[in-house]
Amino acid sequence: MMSDKISEEFGKMGEECGVFGIYNHPEAANMTYLGLHQLQHRGQESAGIVTSDGTKMRVHIGMGLVSDVFDDKIIDDLPGQHAIGHVRYSTTGSSEIKNAQPCFVETAHGPIGFAHNGNLVNAVSLKKELEGVGSIFQSTMDTEVIAHLYARSRKPKLHERIVDALCRVRGAYSLVALVETRLIAVRDPLGFRPLVLGRLKDSYVVTSETCALDLIEAEFIREIEPGEMIVISKKGVESFRPFPPQEPRQCVFEHIYFSRPDSLVFGKSVYKVRMALGRALAESYPVEADVVIPVPDSGIVAALGYAEAAKIPFAMGLIRNHYVGRTFIEPEQSIRHFGVKLKLNAVRGVVRGKRVVVVDDSIVRGTTSRKIIKMIREAGAAEVHMRISSPPTIHPCFFGIDTPNETHLIAATHTVEEISKFLTTDSLGYMTLEALRTGAGLGPYVYCDACFSGNYPVKPEGVDSVQLGLF
Ligand code: AMP
Repeated sequence: MMSDKISEEFGKMGEECGVFGIYNHPEAANMTYLGLHQLQHRGQESAGIVTSDGTKMRVHIGMGLVSDVFDDKIIDDLPGQHAIGHVRYSTTGSSEIKNAQPCFVETAHGPIGFAHNGNLVNAVSLKKELEGVGSIFQSTMDTEVIAHLYARSRKPKLHERIVDALCRVRGAYSLVALVETRLIAVRDPLGFRPLVLGRLKDSYVVTSETCALDLIEAEFIREIEPGEMIVISKKGVESFRPFPPQEPRQCVFEHIYFSRPDSLVFGKSVYKVRMALGRALAESYPVEADVVIPVPDSGIVAALGYAEAAKIPFAMGLIRNHYVGRTFIEPEQSIRHFGVKLKLNAVRGVVRGKRVVVVDDSIVRGTTSRKIIKMIREAGAAEVHMRISSPPTIHPCFFGIDTPNETHLIAATHTVEEISKFLTTDSLGYMTLEALRTGAGLGPYVYCDACFSGNYPVKPEGVDSVQLGLF
């Protein structure tokens, strides 16, 4: 968790978010509402929509789930045929309306809204530089840096001003922007976060995950490629390649945990990748057991893959209560412990007297996993073996996934045997980095796996590294 100093300086550094945009639809706000609902797993803290009817732009932003923030009346008050929207996830410290998105600003070039998924690694130094020349920041989110850079650009054309701003920033951005008559979508040159383009009759849609296209019955056209910017206007879709090309480094954790299994991400079915991860895990860490159970929902598909390859029956030995938020958004350790019980319960009939393999996607702090193992044991399991479908998480993410710093990452400070002892498992097996890179069905390896390998494609430097190092 981030220190208070950083919270004040720049909100939460690792923001997990979802973005959506639609161009030329008579019910643009409604479609965006539906799209955001489908991206709710990417952020539950706040939601917002900006619309344009071609001449006037409107905005509504609020704290909470999409269904809490919007109702019929609010949607009716957002007329227009173009819209963008955002859902934001955050931890304590920056859970404030001023940090909710889209970031909507009036500039000398006209009004513009930005919806950003990702994290900039040089936001702190850029903010200081901009403040030094008179910029006044309203929020502590790094997206506002992009807005200021855009507002200061002297370039005559919209897409040139956005490029001007983005040439200054480093890090992860899948960005959707709306002005009165155009919608822009850009993915950073390394392509950390997903962004796809779809079509719904005469409308174009851009969004983080294809599951949002499915709900509104839009057809998936293609991914917006790393380093690509598209401008959607009356002329149709124009594509630009404004940045020097780089080898993409897409976030492997989108496949492991973050995206929905029914989405196509980075050209791959998330479901199929998770199945392959589970199978590879069974090959690396087999164990004599009676039943394979997932930690729902995050471990379900990998557990299916494990059970299939190990030829051990799969069962739902843990049942999730879907009406509580994810435990990791709760601030205090004491509440985190309580939260696991609120969320999960063991099925005695499935685990009693059995040698159980429990599969999850990752271990972060270890506190949730330890509670889960205890629960399975208390329900009468004879043995509990844990299998994790990713390598040990030993480094923080600077590119948009919320991870604590090394001191709170259990695998950064403990060996696998020590973690197994802490969790009270009979055995513990993680996916190896090598198996992830070669045997996980990911195809040509164009991924960032810095959270497992420490191999950061871009590094925060100077004042930014000091700031980021603290969180
Ligand atoms: P713990 O045992 O407390 O480390 O929690 C592990 C659980 O956290 C697993 O079920 C993961 O699916 C989940 N998890 C992994 N990464 C994240 C993340 N960035 N944010 C929230 N939860 C996560």
